Amino acid sequence: MSLRMAFGASLGALVAMALAIATGLIVATDQVAKTASALSENVHRVRLAQHLQIDLLLHARAVDELRKADEAQRMREEIAESEGYRRSVASQAAFQDASRAIRTYLTAPNADSLRVAYAAADQFVNAEESDATALAHVAADWRTRAIALGATLGLLLVLAATGILFWFRTATLRPILELNRAMRSYAAGDRSAAAPQEGAREVREIGQAYERMREALRQQREDQVTFLAGVAHDLRNPLTALRLAHAVVREGKAVSETRLRSIVQITGRQVEQLDRMVGDLLDSTRLDAGRLELRLGSVDLGALAEEAAQLIRSATPDRAISVDRPAQPLLAWADPTRVEQVLVNLLSNAVKYSPDPSPIDVRVGREGDQAFVEVRDRGPGLSDEDKRRIFEPFRRVGAPSAAPGTGLGLYVARRLVEAHHGELSVENAPGGGSIFRIRLPGVNA
Ligand code: ADP
Repeated sequence: MSLRMAFGASLGALVAMALAIATGLIVATDQVAKTASALSENVHRVRLAQHLQIDLLLHARAVDELRKADEAQRMREEIAESEGYRRSVASQAAFQDASRAIRTYLTAPNADSLRVAYAAADQFVNAEESDATALAHVAADWRTRAIALGATLGLLLVLAATGILFWFRTATLRPILELNRAMRSYAAGDRSAAAPQEGAREVREIGQAYERMREALRQQREDQVTFLAGVAHDLRNPLTALRLAHAVVREGKAVSETRLRSIVQITGRQVEQLDRMVGDLLDSTRLDAGRLELRLGSVDLGALAEEAAQLIRSATPDRAISVDRPAQPLLAWADPTRVEQVLVNLLSNAVKYSPDPSPIDVRVGREGDQAFVEVRDRGPGLSDEDKRRIFEPFRRVGAPSAAPGTGLGLYVARRLVEAHHGELSVENAPGGGSIFRIRLPGVNA
């Protein structure tokens, strides 16, 4: 469940509970108010019935006619007032009897009619009192109901609030606290501090993002260790060669000129390799740190390809390197030194990894708004997996010991091209061999 949904549901439940409590209290208050008003009216009716009975006795006892007429008038008024009230069926029947008997008495006052009227008035008083007692019971019932309703809804509200608090603790707060603890432990150096994968969806997503970051950092550390191991391993060969040469010179033994020449050649090659490796390492660390400065400008890719081919031709005069380029300058937005470095790397790989004296073809062209250079050789080509792996640092495939190298050239070359917002890819050529292609942002001439 997501946090938003959970909060919405909790809020909805609390609002529904509050509405139910408010409605229950309004209904109960209304009923109590109605019963109270009915009760007060009933008390008045009881008093009216009692006055009627008393006035009947006063009328019977009165000796002077004026007083009698006065009491009779009062009774008529009391009967008229009593008529206006609504009452229970029994009470209404008692009222009808009493009013009829009193009127009969008033028309023909004698001992019999007085007895009947008094008894009827008594019944009427009793009936009105019964009504009042019934109403008092209704009021007591409503009071009990209101207390029960209030207590039940209050308890439910407390339970709902406790449930929501409990959910908030287990689903939200606790996973957040654990996540916080894991991050702090990680920051303090505990690489095994894992994030909890529980709680609300958003909290789980944060936990998953943390785990991805932890995995990425672990992978990065592993890559760094592998990289350093590769550097250390590749430094060994040149160092061993230099140490051996140094031992020969230090011992001062007589060495033939041929042997000396061979030592100088070997150490020269190893120093060159060291130089190339240190250069590649420097480039790769600068690229990693984002400190590689490119001097971007509009450059003619055709001319650059020609220069690189010329450089390789001078080192390997027996290899035929052709350059197919448009007559017009083919402009790309790039740093010429870096692009030439990449081209020289691709060409020297083509020479190293294809049989002597197979030709090497360079082709320069445009595709949409991109300029490209292709280097094609007649070597063994590459398997699908090797096509991906050769761009990893220190990765050498096939029979690498056959040719000198560090395994850093293509790694640096691809990153240099990518720093230009370009692409370096490889595919197998139709008739055998491989084609390395650089694509760079073109410039409209
Ligand atoms: P290096 O040439 O110093 O070993 P690179 O990074 O330039 O390092 O190349 C990585 C690996 O890719 C090489 O060792 C080789 O196995 C493979 N490779 C590079 N260029 C070619 C090519 N033109 N044909 C076949 N394999 C190649």
